[in-house]
Amino acid sequence: MSAISPHGPLKLAVTIDDPFMWNGASFPPGYSAESVADSLLEAFDEHGVPGVYNFTSTAPIDENPDWLGVLDRWVDAGHHVAAHTHEHVSLNWSSAAAYIEDVERNLEVLAPWLDRAPTRYFRYAFDMWGDDPAKTAEVQLHLARKGLTTAPISTWFYDVQFLVAYIRTLTTRDTEGQSWIRKNFVDTAVTALKDQAAAAREVFGRDPVHIALIHGTPIAGDFYADVLAAYRDHGVEFVTLEEAMTDPANHVAPPTVNRFFRNSTQKWSEYAGVEVANTPPQVLHEVNALCPVEGLDDAAVFFPVLETACARLEATFVPTDLDWAPTALGRRY
Ligand SMILES: [Zn+2]
Repeated sequence: MSAISPHGPLKLAVTIDDPFMWNGASFPPGYSAESVADSLLEAFDEHGVPGVYNFTSTAPIDENPDWLGVLDRWVDAGHHVAAHTHEHVSLNWSSAAAYIEDVERNLEVLAPWLDRAPTRYFRYAFDMWGDDPAKTAEVQLHLARKGLTTAPISTWFYDVQFLVAYIRTLTTRDTEGQSWIRKNFVDTAVTALKDQAAAAREVFGRDPVHIALIHGTPIAGDFYADVLAAYRDHGVEFVTLEEAMTDPANHVAPPTVNRFFRNSTQKWSEYAGVEVANTPPQVLHEVNALCPVEGLDDAAVFFPVLETACARLEATFVPTDLDWAPTALGRRY
């Protein structure tokens, strides 16, 4: 199989976001926070993925405090927990003060596990650093005061955008649809890494260490082991987030302000005038069209969740910021 990079093995740190999913978009029948975490832990063990940081938004804990036991299992297995805000609202949508208060709530819930991590990491919700540099600076100062280092994402494959379609195939017992999703989830993970690594290589003139994202959802629990196997087949070497963060491509913030859903490779590429091919991937059009079920599409599932979370922070949800959405996918990126 062809390697991701012509320069040899590509180093990749795997990170997880949102192991408790989101209030209003929770685990479907047959799945739980525990079952998904156990599947992921098994996949990491099988493929030798070291020290995976779990960036944990904590609003679902308000209703399900017993889910915190998942974090004990996570840490006992040699992996780590990191901060990710409580309500999972973009800094674009809230004031800096409300965002900082939300970070504080998250830190309070996660304190016992953050204390056990070798490094105190934070990730912005949606990896959105804010639409206004003054707001970002205020939050960055607060994070520095709390000894938190912001870990970006350098590559993603829109894994959550496969989730609702997968749930549709589970609900309707569409086994053909499930096989299609599985194949395309894995293929998209590999091609997205290839495309985004190519852009990063053009920007930096070398392969930086990459930081991958996967969410703690049922589709990840079921198929991420396949993704890890495919990554390995394509010459990926799994490393720790600490190793990735020694790379300036990751520890220097891209010198751009962009309110849209962009990872750090996309932001660096925008600054350097480099095109990132097929990102978001066009296959999402087919994913969205697969196995239609009334009321089970991305907007119907996630937009009310985000409206409610925003209301709790007196923030304003701006759906067009999430420009993978079906309504926005038709346009040019
Ligand atoms: Zn998240």
